Amino acid sequence: MKVFYSDAHLAHQPRYYFPEGGQTEPFLETPERAECVVSVLHKADWAEVVPPEEFGLEPILSVHSAPYLDYLRTAYAEWQSCSPIEGQAFIPGSYTIDRQMVLTGNVPEQTGFFLMSVHVPVTAGTYTAALAAAQCALSGAQAVAQGQRAAFALCRPPGHHAGREICGGFCFLNNAAIAAQWLSGQGKVAILDIDYHAGNGTQDIFYERPDVLTVSLHANPDREYPNYAGYTHETGAGPGAGYHRNYPLPVGTDDSLYLHTLNEALDLIANFDPAHLVLSAGMDIYKDDPLSDFAITHPGIVEIGRSIASLNLQTLVVMEGGYNVEALGKNVVALLVAFV
Ligand SMILES: [Zn+2]
Repeated sequence: MKVFYSDAHLAHQPRYYFPEGGQTEPFLETPERAECVVSVLHKADWAEVVPPEEFGLEPILSVHSAPYLDYLRTAYAEWQSCSPIEGQAFIPGSYTIDRQMVLTGNVPEQTGFFLMSVHVPVTAGTYTAALAAAQCALSGAQAVAQGQRAAFALCRPPGHHAGREICGGFCFLNNAAIAAQWLSGQGKVAILDIDYHAGNGTQDIFYERPDVLTVSLHANPDREYPNYAGYTHETGAGPGAGYHRNYPLPVGTDDSLYLHTLNEALDLIANFDPAHLVLSAGMDIYKDDPLSDFAITHPGIVEIGRSIASLNLQTLVVMEGGYNVEALGKNVVALLVAFV
């Protein structure tokens, strides 16, 4: 299995963020996450770690708006030029919903529009890292389109909270959505999101599309990020009505409940009969993840992988969350090995 990985992610190293409650905490989405996964995969005889190919900006602009990409590219330097604080990341103090004001405004107003939460500190290297992650996802999509059974895009930063022109939840560019959009030129695509958190960005991007089915299993947003999306009544709109499905899950969700729900989701995907599957793989479902209140075990993750692989679809697996660095590598392997 080809594993697409770029060490360009090292350019994105925010030091702090502000989780609920407002206290400053060390940034959880660390470079060590990707480094521990790639080091475990280097030891697996079935995994071939390769750098991504360069697809340019065009496939990214088919998912994200040009003003949003311009913002990500220029925001840090512009902020530094007016109020430099060495080594810090820019987090807004005020927010707006007026898009026109944003497009004609400067960085503070733009930040208060393009950032949907305070979990996405933009640093000097954020754009470089996010672009490289998107290229990993596109390279994986190409491998699958060329006939590979599966490929793994080891993306960092993750992507599924990023919408058409918003970033949130550690995510800047929606790697899985960019890959799915690219694959949708070759037939229907299903995106299955198994990250602990609802994939609001992916939902946003494809909400009115009947050719891209989006399905997400996650902690109920009435208690977990992103809070405003991920409920059962959100099922798509316009031509995409009926092509989005959320499965919010309760505190303490164990292997049995998760696998039961997953099988329901897999039936939906099988009935949709896509040409390709994109799997947004967040390992923060694991019982010992610092963000999780699920009870999913390592053997449970093995079973989750087997269940998804049993669809027998050409599958691109895209790395999303997972913050227990010690367990992350072996949990990713447990998921991927089912596709070997
Ligand atoms: Zn997550």
